[in-house]
Amino acid sequence: MAESAKKPKMSKEERAMKRLCGDGFPKNAFNLFNKAIKIVSDKTLEAASSLSEEDLEKAKQILDHMLHSILFLGNIQATCYLPKYIFSDVEMLNRTMNDFPDAFHHYQTYVARRTPFSYFVELVTVCYRQENVMIPTVILILSELLSNCKKSGDLYPLISTVICICETDNLNYYGVSLSCESDREREIMTAVSCLHVWHPKVSSAVMSVFPEGTGNPRSIKLPDKVSCRAYAVEDMSQVKPPCRRCHELYSLPGPSENLNDPGNCAETEAISNLLHCQKGVDDKTTIAVGVYNDQEIRGKMTTCFNENMNKINMKKSKGNHINYNILTVYN
Ligand SMILES: [Zn+2]
Repeated sequence: MAESAKKPKMSKEERAMKRLCGDGFPKNAFNLFNKAIKIVSDKTLEAASSLSEEDLEKAKQILDHMLHSILFLGNIQATCYLPKYIFSDVEMLNRTMNDFPDAFHHYQTYVARRTPFSYFVELVTVCYRQENVMIPTVILILSELLSNCKKSGDLYPLISTVICICETDNLNYYGVSLSCESDREREIMTAVSCLHVWHPKVSSAVMSVFPEGTGNPRSIKLPDKVSCRAYAVEDMSQVKPPCRRCHELYSLPGPSENLNDPGNCAETEAISNLLHCQKGVDDKTTIAVGVYNDQEIRGKMTTCFNENMNKINMKKSKGNHINYNILTVYN
């Protein structure tokens, strides 16, 4: 008789749990959030370089948004990852629900503005901003995290494997790739980012070729003094050349042959963060044809968002349908 026939039969619930726990999503979600919590608690306990009151408040807000984003992305998957699958330890689930009630109350109704990993990198930059070896610290933390995460196919669900650093006047701005597992999810996060997060020049450059992937790109040209370098987190010793898309949208020189999806690359977020923070650089940054107006961005991104949400619902069983509005975001 086969070995498996002797085992006690698992309930439907246990089988679902086993299948989900073998996936990268819940494992990486748990690792990411756990690591973020540990960074903040370690920093709080440190005597010498403890966080300022303001930074601590900011860090707590980032944790809350990051958790909401994890739960939101878990909910929009065709196979819904409920919080109990991500926090399979009941005690930890209860503690997290107690510490961050809003994220749990709102993940089924409010859209996340950014990916969990984008919040994670922001958290690291807030917690280690006092250190003068900021870049090596960020690299070390990201590569440590990556080594504990699980791969599904070629990707690490929820984990960005590329980071971009834009530098000007000795100030660094970070960005990471979107790290979405499916095209549906990636298009949803790109639409939300264009409408709510990215600098209007970056949103307009992306939107000129998104979601179609074709069209006349509205290229951005940054001032010469800005450098923009991307690295694979697994090997930070080498600069990763921009893809042809980033060359087309952001005029970055020396592109590779790859053509990535508009908005997906780490360069997008890094350039957007730089333009948001540096008015002088923004003033000197040109964009071909100009930016789209708010109404155009809202119209096109709402359509794209709704189409993708409908496609997800077609894969879900009737009782599990989701209903989000791109204008209702978690703040
Ligand atoms: Zn690119």
